[in-house]
Amino acid sequence: APTLLAGYAAALPELVSPWQPSLPPLRAGQVPRLLLANDALASELGIGPDWLHTENALSVLGARSVLPHSQPVALAYAGHQFGGFSPMLGDGRAVLLGEIRTPAGDLRDLGLKGSGQTPYSRRGDGRAALGPVLREYLFGEAMHALGIPTTRALAAVTTGDLVFRDGTMRQGAVLTRVAASHLRFGTLELVARSVIPEAREELLRKLVEYAVARHYPELTGSSNPAVALLDSVIEAHARLVAHWTAVGFLHGVMNTDNMSISGETIDYGPCAWLEAYDLDTVFSSIDTAGRYRFGYQGPIALWNLSRFAETLLPLIAEDPNEAVAQATSLLETFADRHGDALRGLFRTKLALRDAQPGDAELIDDLLAGMAAARADYTTTWRFLARWLRGIPMLEVPGVQQVWLERWAARVPGDPRAAADAMDYVNPIYVPRNHLVEAALADAEGGDHTAYDRLLTAVRAPFDERADWADLAEPGPAEFTRQHVTY
Ligand code: AMP
Ligand code: MG
Ligand code: MG
Repeated sequence: APTLLAGYAAALPELVSPWQPSLPPLRAGQVPRLLLANDALASELGIGPDWLHTENALSVLGARSVLPHSQPVALAYAGHQFGGFSPMLGDGRAVLLGEIRTPAGDLRDLGLKGSGQTPYSRRGDGRAALGPVLREYLFGEAMHALGIPTTRALAAVTTGDLVFRDGTMRQGAVLTRVAASHLRFGTLELVARSVIPEAREELLRKLVEYAVARHYPELTGSSNPAVALLDSVIEAHARLVAHWTAVGFLHGVMNTDNMSISGETIDYGPCAWLEAYDLDTVFSSIDTAGRYRFGYQGPIALWNLSRFAETLLPLIAEDPNEAVAQATSLLETFADRHGDALRGLFRTKLALRDAQPGDAELIDDLLAGMAAARADYTTTWRFLARWLRGIPMLEVPGVQQVWLERWAARVPGDPRAAADAMDYVNPIYVPRNHLVEAALADAEGGDHTAYDRLLTAVRAPFDERADWADLAEPGPAEFTRQHVTY
């Protein structure tokens, strides 16, 4: 069994509530099952698959018991949701079991989601339905396989109980989540809005110190830790959102409580992968105004970072005007950092090794063509590599011959080597909406074949396999704007 530490709870007891997982007692005949176990992740954590498949693990990860010496806590945080401030959110259906020290020396949070009501549940039931649990598990693995910072699931356990969602009873489940930490922008927002100014500044200082030590240890000893932290978090999110855009991922609910200080992708809700390239794509059924649409993720990241920066103002400088001026000048670096990161990723996707004048136009012209033709985002990059190899193709949908010639003239070295390099960064298999919907529906009906197959494929996103050809196909048109409920 893993050894669980309680570093965060010990360092910042003001921001946690000691809390046991609290599912109702098992009824006669109710059988929890270990549905998914992430053996690879278990090894990375130094847990070993031997424990993960035990009755003890089923009971702990199914939120029925706690490990000896473990002191689970529910985390307090606030956050801006769809632009409006909620002064108190917190873990309404989750607990942090503790931290694990990995064999590599890193610290990882181990938490449960769907483990029952907490002091922060408000009117929620504290539960999770199987569908969203399987979605989060799948998307985390896909993201990880693409090399993008993300939380990951260690296990999914069905509780054997039912939860009420969207007018029907659904199977309940518990997700075990592994994160660099669960510190969010909203954690600082909670502290910054506290009513007692003296306590606020002291607590902010401790929180910044903790965040720096845990996520940006290279900043330890900075003359101004708050400024250094802001700078690093801006950089981390500029890169993170650029990565999302480059692979066609839409987070769907970029509220500040869903933005991690560590720069990992966290809180997979109504997220989805782009099908047709369209900046206005929205999938979430609750995002009626399109605030979190695909093409607006960069500006929203900056908006979120601005809320984060505001929390740090008292630590940035004693003079409020000076603090605002410093924070603003850092926030103003976001656009260039995000643009540079994105251009760098697009260059890699196109096998352009070095930066040259005209790159931005080359990339923009490609994307404009894709948008005009509503070209399938994921397959286009693989088609381009095929074309570069000289494989006869009638056309690359949405891409004009003149653009292809312009691009080919710009690709350095052997075109075949360049095409190979492209295939190494441009995925074939991503969690396409129609596949996800079908797999989740089957899984809820007890048949896990499609889900397991999709999970295996998104874990090997670059390896072309003939027997997975159907998983690479664009979905039916209605799924390009699928409304994901969760
Ligand atoms: P999310 O949309 O998952 O980021 O959640 C936003 C807030 O609502 C967080 O404070 C969650 O803990 C809380 N929440 C979401 N679903 C539930 C639920 N079923 N029961 C209690 N709290 C919930
Ligand atoms: Mg959340
Ligand atoms: Mg959540």
